[in-house]
Amino acid sequence: MIVNMKTGATAEEIDGVVQRAKSLKLGVQLNLGTDRTVVAILGSNTGKISTDTFAVLPGVEQVTRIMKPYKLAAREVKPQDTIVNIKGVEVGGKRFVVMAGPCAVESKEQLFEAAQIVTKAGASVLRGGAFKPRTSPFSFQGLEEAGLEILKQAKERFGIPIITEVMDTHEAKLVAGCADILQIGARNMQNFALLKEVGKIKRPVVLKRGFSSTVTEWLTAADYLLAEGNADVILCERGIRTFEDSTRFSMDISSIPVIKKFSHLPVIVDPSHAAGHYSLVPSIAKAAVAAGADGLLIEVHPNPKEALVDGLQSITPSDFTRLMNEMKPIAKAVGRYI
Ligand code: PEP
Ligand code: MN
Repeated sequence: MIVNMKTGATAEEIDGVVQRAKSLKLGVQLNLGTDRTVVAILGSNTGKISTDTFAVLPGVEQVTRIMKPYKLAAREVKPQDTIVNIKGVEVGGKRFVVMAGPCAVESKEQLFEAAQIVTKAGASVLRGGAFKPRTSPFSFQGLEEAGLEILKQAKERFGIPIITEVMDTHEAKLVAGCADILQIGARNMQNFALLKEVGKIKRPVVLKRGFSSTVTEWLTAADYLLAEGNADVILCERGIRTFEDSTRFSMDISSIPVIKKFSHLPVIVDPSHAAGHYSLVPSIAKAAVAAGADGLLIEVHPNPKEALVDGLQSITPSDFTRLMNEMKPIAKAVGRYI
């Protein structure tokens, strides 16, 4: 249930709504907007409570029910766009933010070379997996703790924020010791224990779309992070599984305007895992800019042929530099900049 307070409602009036909700053993989240406050009333039994319970309280303008399964991620709760600030890099604002780097951290040399290339070309966040979710147990699983150490060194050397994946609740604090953004992978989108744990850490999170999940399921998963009080949630479309097998996954470009319509959360696109092949990545990336995405998460490797993971879908430094330049006029055409 959403309680829209009147413009200029007093702190006492807002507290009156909060206390009434608490007396009914309901959860509460406040969105203190610039001109008006929205109080989200949460709990499995809100359906049994009449909207009049809150509508009669002083300072209340309107009470509505959110009929969708997701609540905190819904635009109704927060009409204004969320902007996530990662050490001065804003995702969800006018700037189209590019997060780039190798799929996995392989060595200090490899990551430093990648960091140098992507920063020079204009990326503002460095990606690199230390814990890798591999389909086969016999594939390279990542450098794990040693990989985190290399990421820390790259962060210090290049002064760039880091995004890296967290796969398990037990590693969440360890990964948060290095990551400026915690990445929750497609395979873990509905790992609710992990979502709760990462929600508690209160570090910006990129929540990838599960490749068999609907947008509604994705936004409802985001509610797990938001419900723990972590407001810094960025969604990432990375392609879904369809009957089409000429790409690794099918990029659901329409999920970007759909998310923008139904949610206040920023959404970025990972063209690499959708494409599965380097030759397709630039076109998908450019489509993402045009469709109104807030940024990219893209795999760039200093030498893709030597990559231990996802080499075929990783673009070369020169292709990345070219892509950065090609995206600029598209960003401008849709009122953004890179
Ligand atoms: C990745 O970003 O390297 C990754 C494993 O992505 P996804 O979770 O989307 O498959
Ligand atoms: Mn990858």
